[in-house]
Amino acid sequence: MTFEELGLDEKLVKATSDLGFQNPTTIQEKAIPVLLGGTKDLVGLAQTGTGKTAAFGLPLLQLTDAAKKYPQALVVCPTRELCMQIVNEIELFKKYMPGMHVVAVYGGASVGQQIRELKRGVQIVVATPGRLIDLIERKAINLEQIEYVVLDEADEMLNMGFQDDIEHILQNTPKRNATWLFSATMPPEIKRVSKKYMNQPFEVTVGKLNTANKNIDHQYFVTNSQHRYETLKRLIDFNPGIYGLIFTRTKVDAQEIADKLTRDGYDIDALHGDLNQQQRDKVMGEFRDKTLQLLIATDVAARGIDVSGITHVINFELPDDIEVYTHRSGRTGRAGLTGICMSIVHSREIGKIRAIERIVQAPFNKLEIPTGKDVCRKQFFFFMDKLLQLDINHGDYETYLPMLAEKFADVSKEEVLKRVASLEFDRFLKYYENAEDLNVRERARSERGERGDRGERSDFRERQPIGGRDQSRRRDTSGREFAGGGDQMRLFVNLGTKDGFYKASFLQFILDMSDLKKEVLGRIDMKEMNSWIEIDRRAAQQMITAIDGKKYKGRRIRMNDANSR
Ligand code: ADP
Ligand code: MG
Repeated sequence: MTFEELGLDEKLVKATSDLGFQNPTTIQEKAIPVLLGGTKDLVGLAQTGTGKTAAFGLPLLQLTDAAKKYPQALVVCPTRELCMQIVNEIELFKKYMPGMHVVAVYGGASVGQQIRELKRGVQIVVATPGRLIDLIERKAINLEQIEYVVLDEADEMLNMGFQDDIEHILQNTPKRNATWLFSATMPPEIKRVSKKYMNQPFEVTVGKLNTANKNIDHQYFVTNSQHRYETLKRLIDFNPGIYGLIFTRTKVDAQEIADKLTRDGYDIDALHGDLNQQQRDKVMGEFRDKTLQLLIATDVAARGIDVSGITHVINFELPDDIEVYTHRSGRTGRAGLTGICMSIVHSREIGKIRAIERIVQAPFNKLEIPTGKDVCRKQFFFFMDKLLQLDINHGDYETYLPMLAEKFADVSKEEVLKRVASLEFDRFLKYYENAEDLNVRERARSERGERGDRGERSDFRERQPIGGRDQSRRRDTSGREFAGGGDQMRLFVNLGTKDGFYKASFLQFILDMSDLKKEVLGRIDMKEMNSWIEIDRRAAQQMITAIDGKKYKGRRIRMNDANSR
């Protein structure tokens, strides 16, 4: 089959042959005639590298009217890089179409420049969701006349947390009568979007689909709430080459943990809503160039982070909304690389893990939190490997060798090694000397003697059989949360144990202040500085009104919706 035979104009055919395209790819062959034939909605599923850009780009150019000087087609894609790529490719396709203009709209670049380009009269806009919404809000872009909307790499956009933005865009294109969605995978959320916003879409599938997240190993570690931080530290220490992204629910947690880990000598910074754009760019820049080995972020702040090569995503806590898990884990295992997503959970949250398994359609592996010894051994071998792999050919070491030889004349090789190791390891050895076991063990399991001699294990991993999980499923408060009822919400309050509260007295205090009954409350999570309160959604406002802004021991109390933080 040739490009002419697909029904493309001569100008476009000529452009493709200038590009050296000899024949259409499979997705182009299947999609282009359908789109030119007036089919409104299309779902195109194909792996990366199959030529999807031309599959939508060529028909868009043919269907768009160059004589009309306003946006008629909108392509939405997840990242700035992709945005520029698509625009470059469309520029090449429209080589013989004078008067046709395409503009790229993405974050992190001058908005003024983009607004000026938009004003020049463009027909096709290629945008990332965040900046596009920014422009909609500034009324700098007019989507009134948009007829075609293309969602490219839709699964990636959802992974990055752009679901609401995409829906907002779809809702704000009143004249849209064709929606083309391209994706490499077909997770349930995409099915939902297509059901809601598309009308009996024509489906084109090419080759075998990448199954969702198959490159990600989902792991979880069970500990007590008060050991979360220690567990996090141990997981980081057990993975010396880690390039990781850590998620917390609140910005207070994000900042606190970043501060603590920094004090403990880790290269980490926090990304949260309190940073201005400049600070955000600085942190992101440092993470991107690996000056920072670790980045800790809240879900909202992490939206749109597109960093390649992240080896581990760590959930310091599971997200309140389990759908958010896929956004978090999707930050690793990208572009064909493998990744690990670790979750630190409380034994009450195991039911939540089961619910997430159904969403990501992959089993989770329950692993043991490494012991202090495990960590030291791992660090030791990592360091020794690094030592052996060092490139020592470029320095002027020869000059100093005679002196060195003299100085070390009476020191054996073993001793040199020991000294080098102690230089690097004293910190770890001392720290982990008396490290406690952080695992919360289910009694039933250890009674069955599933765990052999801990000292003998060469690999602390333990795979959980998928079939046998019913015994760990429980009905409890966490069960209610993910049943999707959503009748409870979480409140944040800046009171904690340092204010002299313990759980019972705190409970008494908030109930007395708000004149509410104990029944409206769910779990209460007390930290030193802050607490989180699960509460019946209908009672939440009454509590906030009664408590927020009041004083306690001379300090103003702040209480608000934990999710909006
Ligand atoms: P996808 O979006 O499916 O990942 P792209 O549209 O980015 O794929 O295309 C991948 C590469 O293949 C690009 O360099 C593109 O120029 C090239 N390409 C696309 N269509 C053809 C074709 N028909 N013949 C040859 N090369 C093509
Ligand atoms: Mg593509």
